[in-house]
Amino acid sequence: PPVLLWFRRDLRLGDNAALSAAAASGRPIIAVHVLDPEAQAPWRDGAASRWWLHHSLSRLDQSLDRLGLSLLLRRGPTVEVLTQVIKESGADQVAWTRGIDPAAQRQDDAVAAALAKRGVTALSRPGDLLFEPDAVLSKAGTPFRVFTPFWKACLKAPAPTLPLPPPAKPLPAGPRLTGDTLADWRLQPSRPDWAAAWPEHWQPGEAGAARRLTDFLNGALPRYAAGRDHPAQELTSRLSPHLHFGEISPRQVFHAAMTAAPSAGRDRFLAELGWRAFSAHLLHQFPDLPRRPLRPEFERMAWRCDPAGLRAWQRGQTGYPLVDAGMRQLWATGWMHNRVRMVAASFLVKDLLISWREGQDWFWDTLVDADLASNAASWQWVAGCGADAAPFFRIFNPVLQGEKFDPDGAYVRRWCPELAALPDRWLHRPWQAPSDILRRCGIDLGKSYPLPVVDHDLARHRALAAFTQLRD
Ligand code: FAD
Repeated sequence: PPVLLWFRRDLRLGDNAALSAAAASGRPIIAVHVLDPEAQAPWRDGAASRWWLHHSLSRLDQSLDRLGLSLLLRRGPTVEVLTQVIKESGADQVAWTRGIDPAAQRQDDAVAAALAKRGVTALSRPGDLLFEPDAVLSKAGTPFRVFTPFWKACLKAPAPTLPLPPPAKPLPAGPRLTGDTLADWRLQPSRPDWAAAWPEHWQPGEAGAARRLTDFLNGALPRYAAGRDHPAQELTSRLSPHLHFGEISPRQVFHAAMTAAPSAGRDRFLAELGWRAFSAHLLHQFPDLPRRPLRPEFERMAWRCDPAGLRAWQRGQTGYPLVDAGMRQLWATGWMHNRVRMVAASFLVKDLLISWREGQDWFWDTLVDADLASNAASWQWVAGCGADAAPFFRIFNPVLQGEKFDPDGAYVRRWCPELAALPDRWLHRPWQAPSDILRRCGIDLGKSYPLPVVDHDLARHRALAAFTQLRD
């Protein structure tokens, strides 16, 4: 009988323990992916993630084809679909990579129980984390809530195992069953096709992930520590969507980075992978992380309801150039540089005093790397309500952040071209530019580029007052 290889967020052939287990069984393989949005509720894939998934599955299908396999696509409740495929094929083993977020873990349990009932063997393998939750604990045996001791403990723990190689030769294929086509799933936007230009920025799939990693290790890595905060320099790896969809495993990235010469850049990069693992550990400890502040007093925060402010933020029309550039980069490419994510998120939460959940929801829909754990943990970090968070009263000044991290304005000029002619001196504070300079630069403030939606200093006081009230 054949073995089912159930692909989830592990859309690759290399370092795929589930694939290796299926191959080692020596049986014919049926590779399957199940679209089951209901099981993800309320965190169904956002629009940007669906775009990525479409392309990633298409690439995986091509790679499987080279191994002599094909990818069966079925839609519906996962347990029912897998049971049906087992019935149709006579498979008596199912191999898969376990999930990381709570919905995927519930699915793991439901599938394992259904298989046990039918006497089908489950070959489930650990999820894509550098360190399994509960594998790294404090001396007291409790999970960490603060990053630095967590990461120190990780570095002392046995190193992640070496990645498994992809299958070297074609594998026996099980019976070909009929399934959906990718087009049936309508994962891609139609009209308007806001992602039309995304292939210029991204190559979803395992080969694209491997290329990004190689380019990064051969290029930016030594300069990463100092350069990672400068959005115009593009010195980060952009591996996040590839990691999210499992087109590359964190073990592969970790070990590849370890072969590079030691440098501050390498250490810093590994620590960022650590943040990914830490976020997953937090979500594991606190499954409500995307909805509930870890500091419960923040439930009482007097967040404002401000649809116009929220809309201005979403559209990159706040009047603060660094924030707007970031939000436009997000809309145009499905990704935003980390430093700008922090500044834009802080602006929403503190300057506009709009709940971090609203920002998290927008990012969820628009980021190609939208990840339940990293998104929720990062938003709580920025909002000051997280486990190991920046204190609420530390409020980013979007002008000073722009002047520090985009000093020659290359990033703002790229994403806010209507400001491009403005001299550096005024670029991050256009409302202070003398009117003759604005005129000469073709800028009609309030028309061609918005006036600030809030005054940062007033907004800062408002936020601090709301915070004081919370503490009292
Ligand atoms: P690099 O700098 O090259 O880092 C390498 C890898 O480390 C990344 O690919 C990512 O997997 C991981 N990483 C880096 N920084 C972080 C971090 N702070 N937290 C967790 N993992 C990290 N990251 C996501 O993957 N998905 C999200 O939904 C997400 N939402 C965020 C929301 C906010 C408000 C903020 C401030 C940050 C968010 N991040 C999220 C973290 C970070 O911004 C991205 O991981 C990073 O910008 C991805 O770009 P990169 O691959 O070039 O990163």
